[in-house]
Amino acid sequence: MVTRSVDLRSDTVTRPTDAMREAMASAEVDDDILGYDPTARHLEEEMAKMMGKEAALFVPSGTMGNLICVMVHCEMRGSEVILGDNSHIHVYENGGISTIGGVHPKTVKNEEDGTMELGAIEAAIRDPKGSTFYPSTMSICLENTHANSGGRCLSAEYTDSVGKIAKRHGLKLHIDGARLFNASIVISLTHVHTMFQVCLSKGLGAPVGTVIVGSHTFIEKAKTLRKTLGGGMRQIGVLCAAALVALQENLPKLQFDHKKAKLLAEGLNQMKGIRINAAAVETNMIFMDMEDGSRLTAEKLRKSLTECGILVLPGNSSRYVSHGQNLICLNV
Ligand SMILES: *Cc1c(COP(=O)(O)O)cnc(C)c1O
Repeated sequence: MVTRSVDLRSDTVTRPTDAMREAMASAEVDDDILGYDPTARHLEEEMAKMMGKEAALFVPSGTMGNLICVMVHCEMRGSEVILGDNSHIHVYENGGISTIGGVHPKTVKNEEDGTMELGAIEAAIRDPKGSTFYPSTMSICLENTHANSGGRCLSAEYTDSVGKIAKRHGLKLHIDGARLFNASIVISLTHVHTMFQVCLSKGLGAPVGTVIVGSHTFIEKAKTLRKTLGGGMRQIGVLCAAALVALQENLPKLQFDHKKAKLLAEGLNQMKGIRINAAAVETNMIFMDMEDGSRLTAEKLRKSLTECGILVLPGNSSRYVSHGQNLICLNV
């Protein structure tokens, strides 16, 4: 009889702590669409300050955050964003930038570490003035940490290099920073000198919410789009109060998640039949491979772990585009 489960399915399967629930219950609220919710204002100001930016905007999800950012950057319908072929926006967001945003995705190969080769990015840029035949590139998108590479961090130097390419060609740089707080072990939060989104509902454990940060002008445009997309909400102080607690309680704990993931990866690597690239475990994710390359073995292992009360996420071909099909994903 299993009494306590260890849940490693995802860093999103959290539950609000008592402090979060108390903060939610006593949150001061007002209408946020009219701009009056004091708790939302407080969270947005805190986030902007933390990230060294002018302004911030609470949105319901990372997917909407990405969609809004890409749409603000690619204002011209039919323009193009350069992004990784294994990026979250390209793989898991229902192609929303195209279907809703009217933005064309120009993919560049994601390397094992989540980066795209600088030369390949530069080669993918098309004339911003457009032509009769192809869309104009208006933006480049990076993802930090990079989910499908197992939570790898992009360095400040790499981000700078891409920023320079963007600047040279008059393009906007967006960072999908769903796990930017996890990446903050290698990149300072104030370093990313551009617009980006960061999720509070992943490793930080807030029940709901993503925040977009950037300049006043950028955030004003983002706010209009948020309303258009149906993401304007009224008394969101209830959600923002929990997010503020998550920042306070859980941000300092992320480093321990990373240490535990590393330790777990090293231990698992010593077991027969399991293969993990331990050097690639930089943050809170572990991608585990079966030595015999069999999806069947992975599924068998997942089932027996479940019986022991340890929940893990099964790999599948669509999720692990560059890693084969025999994976198990652990999120610490
Ligand atoms: C989870 C995630 C998102 C989307 O966030 P949701 O809140 O689930 O919509 C975007 N980008 C990355 C890298 C993610 O991991």
